[in-house]
Amino acid sequence: MHSLPSRSWVEISGEVIADNFRRIRHLVGPGVGVVPVVKANAYGHGARDTARTLERCGATGFAVATVEEGIELRQAGIGGWVLVMGDFLACEQGALSEFRLTPVLHSAGQVLEWEAFCKNSQLRLPFHLDIDTGMGRLGAHPDALVLDAVCAARWGRFEGLMTHLAAAGNFASGQTASQLEKFEECRVVLKERGALPEFLHMASSVAVAYGIRSSWGSLVRPGLALYGYVNSTVGPAPECLLRLRPALSWKARILEIKEVPAGSLIGYDGSFRTSRLTRMAVIAVGYADGVRWALSNRGRVLAGGAWAPLIGAVSMDVSMIDITGCGPLERGDAVTLLGTEGTLTLDAAAIASAAGTVTHDILSGIGRRVKRVFSSD
Ligand SMILES: *Cc1c(COP(=O)(O)O)cnc(C)c1O
Repeated sequence: MHSLPSRSWVEISGEVIADNFRRIRHLVGPGVGVVPVVKANAYGHGARDTARTLERCGATGFAVATVEEGIELRQAGIGGWVLVMGDFLACEQGALSEFRLTPVLHSAGQVLEWEAFCKNSQLRLPFHLDIDTGMGRLGAHPDALVLDAVCAARWGRFEGLMTHLAAAGNFASGQTASQLEKFEECRVVLKERGALPEFLHMASSVAVAYGIRSSWGSLVRPGLALYGYVNSTVGPAPECLLRLRPALSWKARILEIKEVPAGSLIGYDGSFRTSRLTRMAVIAVGYADGVRWALSNRGRVLAGGAWAPLIGAVSMDVSMIDITGCGPLERGDAVTLLGTEGTLTLDAAAIASAAGTVTHDILSGIGRRVKRVFSSD
């Protein structure tokens, strides 16, 4: 048994992450590789434990955002290839090479820089090229400049071509079709020039889950789906092809319980006034731990098997909940910020919707003070 940390912690099931991974693999079939995205500490789930678990399930490559995240995987003993997708600075080239991380390059200039770096080091090092087909973020416009640079690379080894879809879940928009068309044009040009790389990849979780097969290419890059979620869609969406389970639940302890009369002001700025005799609890988690300030007077948690509204402003280190309608609770008992109690469930998608943000933001925003308790089986 784990001895649970005292204030606030998340419990992560490696078995659930592994099961989600297997379901994704089963859906895309043997012809398409699945590269788990474990950036941002595996969306709050713990990058080391998540990657180790998935490596045991057969994952041979991982994607992260930053060089530091890649180094963390190497230091955890991850041996497969590691793709650094979120760009890097020229001063990080040495670390990429030292830790055998594969960079995604985002401009013609960067391709030339990587080529020069590889030549100087006398090493043939792989890279992937990200093209901007309409995301309007990172990625090179697939013009002659960048294609020439890629085709001329002798030391840098052009291993993959990728793009990122901006609105894969929006089936009312033509943006995805337009992006896929631009990607295909680029692929054809590269093929004609004899420079088609081994890997083509476009899809993240939504494009996998909703079966946008023309975006699957040779690899898919799911993040959120591994952790048990698929974002909701807009417009006439096809059926979601993945049945997933959230892998993480989040608890915090009750620090104090008190009864306050009707008319009491609660928390900063007195933004909540009790309308009746209220049994309230102060819980050991605040916005510095990732409880959104926007949930002040809007969010809720599960306590004693019932809903307990967040009352007053969420503070940095603690929050207040109304437990008048909850079962018997004592100081030191745990409440559930994300997870299930009895028949009631609060998941990250519901929290995101109450906080006016996206599920990714809630999971990756769980703070460093919150202990991770990862169970491998
Ligand atoms: C984060 C990210 C992904 C994973 O996205 P999900 O929506 O979490 O599946 C895939 N590709 C790129 C380039 C990313 O930055």
